[in-house]
Amino acid sequence: MKNQRNVQLFSSLIKKSTHSCVFSQRHRFASATTLRTFHQNRCMTHQKDGSCCDQHRHQHHETNKESSSAVNPGRTDETYQKLFEGNREFVKRKLALDENYFSDMANKSQTPNYMLIGCSDSRVPPDQLTMTQPGDIFIHRNVANLVVNTDLNVMSVLQYAVEVLKVKHVIVMGHYKCGGVLASMEHTAHGLIDKWLGNIKDVQRLHKDKLDATETFEERFNLLVELNVVEQALNLCKTSIVQRAWKTGQELHVHGWVYDLGTGIIKDLEIEEKVWRDIAPIYKIRFPDLPYKSKPKNPQDYKAAQEKDNNEEEDVGVPQQRK
Ligand SMILES: [Zn+2]
Repeated sequence: MKNQRNVQLFSSLIKKSTHSCVFSQRHRFASATTLRTFHQNRCMTHQKDGSCCDQHRHQHHETNKESSSAVNPGRTDETYQKLFEGNREFVKRKLALDENYFSDMANKSQTPNYMLIGCSDSRVPPDQLTMTQPGDIFIHRNVANLVVNTDLNVMSVLQYAVEVLKVKHVIVMGHYKCGGVLASMEHTAHGLIDKWLGNIKDVQRLHKDKLDATETFEERFNLLVELNVVEQALNLCKTSIVQRAWKTGQELHVHGWVYDLGTGIIKDLEIEEKVWRDIAPIYKIRFPDLPYKSKPKNPQDYKAAQEKDNNEEEDVGVPQQRK
């Protein structure tokens, strides 16, 4: 029954069409909605310049209108449709510069040099701020750019970026006037997100003296944004993923940035290895499958070996110094 109905829908669409479409005939059992999507996509590639042919554009517009009101009235919203207009313009511009842009992109695997953990704030899109292109940055975003060691999402992204993509730089990018950081400075109940924001309250507790030394609320707010970036970057260094990479000689650098909404400028906090080196002895992980110079033979020798390790940079796991 369902297939019969789909065939009828398909037939009526074909009859409406002023020219035949080979692609549609291949998908005669597809649903009407899927068929229209296929049809549109096919037109986009047919035209090469990213635009839809006039005949199809009209047809898609009409069929979209029919299904929109029936399925999801939001689809007719002009602001929503602007996203697709933007996408068509994106395709058009890329193809104008390189007609093989998308086929090349689809035929090769990604090899980004950077991973970036940023805030979900809509005003801080990392690729636009850095004028980078699709394929350049592996991106993870969440409220207030946090690196929480029990967050399977950020940890999975980090593992894939470091172990598979072999990125050379992992960057935490915060931004001034961050709503998440601001909310963490309040005592108002915000619901579920308070559990997440508790991580920034920990940053406040860790750096209470520095924060209390500021004179204005704005200074305190800005400093907390920066300290939060530093702590999240250190959270990266604490992970076995980053430490294993360092221990095995993989080139990997951790950075902390703050973006200024008011100027558009990104500031490098230059935390990197020097801050990590101070706390490394506490968080250092010994990997049983990797060689260590002073592996203790007896349990009673452990303390001496540990002290020796703490004095050996190689075993502390800090990355190689830049030349
Ligand atoms: Zn933010």
